[in-house]
Amino acid sequence: MAMQNIGRPSRPRAADLENHASLTGGRGLLQDEPLIFELGGWEKTGVDLPAPDRDAADLGDLVRAEPIGLPGLSEPEALRHYVRLSQKNHAIDLALYPLGSCTMKHNPRLNEKAARLAGFADLHPLQPVSTAQGALALMDRLAHWLKTLTGMPAVALSPKAGAHGELCGLLAIKAAHDAAGQGHRRTVLTPTSAHGTNPATAAFVGYQVAEIAQTADGRVDLADLAAKLGPDVAAIMVTNPNTCGLFERDILEISRLTHEAGAYFYCDGANFNAIVGRVRPGDLGVDAMHINLHKTFSTPHGGGGPGAGPVVLSEALAPFAPVPWLVAGPDGFGLIEEPAGEAARAFGRMCAFQGQMGMFVRAYAYMLSHGADGLRQVAEDAVLNANYIKARLSAEMTPAFPEGPCMHEALFDDSWLEGAGITTLDLAKALIDEGFHPMTMYFPLVVHGAMLIEPTETEPKRELDRFCDAMLALARAAKGADRERLKGAPYLAPMRRLDETLAARKPKLTWRPGDSTVAPAPLAAE
Ligand SMILES: *Cc1c(COP(=O)(O)O)cnc(C)c1O
Repeated sequence: MAMQNIGRPSRPRAADLENHASLTGGRGLLQDEPLIFELGGWEKTGVDLPAPDRDAADLGDLVRAEPIGLPGLSEPEALRHYVRLSQKNHAIDLALYPLGSCTMKHNPRLNEKAARLAGFADLHPLQPVSTAQGALALMDRLAHWLKTLTGMPAVALSPKAGAHGELCGLLAIKAAHDAAGQGHRRTVLTPTSAHGTNPATAAFVGYQVAEIAQTADGRVDLADLAAKLGPDVAAIMVTNPNTCGLFERDILEISRLTHEAGAYFYCDGANFNAIVGRVRPGDLGVDAMHINLHKTFSTPHGGGGPGAGPVVLSEALAPFAPVPWLVAGPDGFGLIEEPAGEAARAFGRMCAFQGQMGMFVRAYAYMLSHGADGLRQVAEDAVLNANYIKARLSAEMTPAFPEGPCMHEALFDDSWLEGAGITTLDLAKALIDEGFHPMTMYFPLVVHGAMLIEPTETEPKRELDRFCDAMLALARAAKGADRERLKGAPYLAPMRRLDETLAARKPKLTWRPGDSTVAPAPLAAE
């Protein structure tokens, strides 16, 4: 029986597939595709170039003796190559992307149109600021709304991703401690459920990392926090809503205890999508927080698109914000590029130039097109969608924290699979056969066999139901007689199960002529 039968053929059994192996490696209308170097030869080119008007002999012994080995392809061959590759990449424009801790939402085309306006897209970072006043005005407006939405007095726009924002926030905190003669504070506290970038950032800045325990209901253990907050603690890094998809109920007490101990409260704001327009982190006592523009304010990041991680800062940390500083003067906007004068206490800079202009435009377009009420509805709908999934899937699966509603993501553990001989990984692979990108697996680490699902506000109910129907059917298959459907999955993907350990330990990063990357197409079985 077809499990996912909306416009798709019945799922063939593994045996059927093996008996119908294609001669080309292509499957259905999806083409197998070698590397571009294996496709094209040196002798071919897609353009007609005039013969060089100088004799090669002019180059003396610098004349190349061997062909350079560039792939030569005609225009249709080159186009097909990249279109075929693009079809192998799952995309939010193709289907639901339920990764938790990632906020993969639809990216309105209006943002893309705005980002491509020549006045933004063709800017050069070194052109005189007098000729880039419109772009600087947009950055100023974006900064205004980021400060308004978070209730914070300052923002550093330049960090280029969430993790880069964490680095920026901790460097500001370190500079503030140093300036106050508190440089002996060497420890950063993070909860056990923290995103890996939090402890990694703290260690990168040179801090020791200590863990804060978690309560049975998935939140920061206040008693453990109070016990660990001492004169050596520089900061805590807490995500809110946290990576279990839960709001930290005691957030005001967390920030009070932290400040009482002379430490700063860094909030990981990656999950701001769940509370934007509803909660202002500044009201919670946050000192620094990055905002992943590419999560909360759309912008395409799946598949490696650029990100942007502006950091909002409290009054105490604002003087240490990195340059460049955007300032408004009588002659328009200007940039303070050096840590001097007004910006004398800036800790340095995070990157060359001003940050990700294209992301600034997209985020600002997203804010303007939603308005204040629209942004609040983003948070409300994201939370509603996650709770819908939590409620439906709880019929077959065990929510990690059954008590009360979740925020923007629904978290399940694998206790419902106990005794079935099926793992979280098997379920994720089986989802691929149903046309869905898997959810986040085995994160957060505090939940056994974790399955973290974040639908976001941009999925319609019909799509949520399609996903839930497939998940519930797979769950029943896992517990029942059809375990092979999961154990052997994916059956329909171009690649089956890869040796992920080998790929991580011994990645093959170069190709030389003669290397083969494409397994020879299997011929029909004897
Ligand atoms: C995504 C995420 C980050 C890192 O953000 P990047 O933009 O990928 O660097 C940090 N913390 C949490 C909780 C996240 O979800």
